[in-house]
Amino acid sequence: MRVLMLDQAKCTGCRACEYACSFEHTGKFNPLDSRIKVNEFWEDLTFVPSVCLQCERAYCEEVCPTSALTKNPETGVVELEKEKCIGCKQCIVACPWGSIKLDHTGKEVIKCDNCGGDPACIKVCYPDALSYEEVEDITNVKVLETATRLKEIAKDLVKGGA
Ligand code: SF4
Repeated sequence: MRVLMLDQAKCTGCRACEYACSFEHTGKFNPLDSRIKVNEFWEDLTFVPSVCLQCERAYCEEVCPTSALTKNPETGVVELEKEKCIGCKQCIVACPWGSIKLDHTGKEVIKCDNCGGDPACIKVCYPDALSYEEVEDITNVKVLETATRLKEIAKDLVKGGA
């Protein structure tokens, strides 16, 4: 199963991902219709993209009274059926990541659908802050990163003790 990965350290805050997302879903360039959001912390010159993480236990799905949100068991994506949505906004309240929102009209609920398996945001992210990875690959990379850090710490300890 593949997931959208966000590497905050690489994000330059260009917001190209927001425009690409909006265009993919609406045919227009309006960040208010983007499913991905770039959070700006100008005091630290830090930019943190956030998007639906397609939670395994999806609270949005659990609270939706009309079953408009359902997790696709094959892709892992929590899919939104617009026709079933009554706009009660309980999914927005329930999402712990703030990743479900209203569109530019303030009436329609929107959320990331991974663009059906070919996310538009990734294609325009030139610093590679966004990627679409197999979960197993992410685990392997994380294990290696942590092991490398531990190795450096161990080396410093040995040097310090010598
Ligand atoms: S396209 Fe990439 S670098 Fe630009 S704002 Fe989005 S995540 Fe950050």
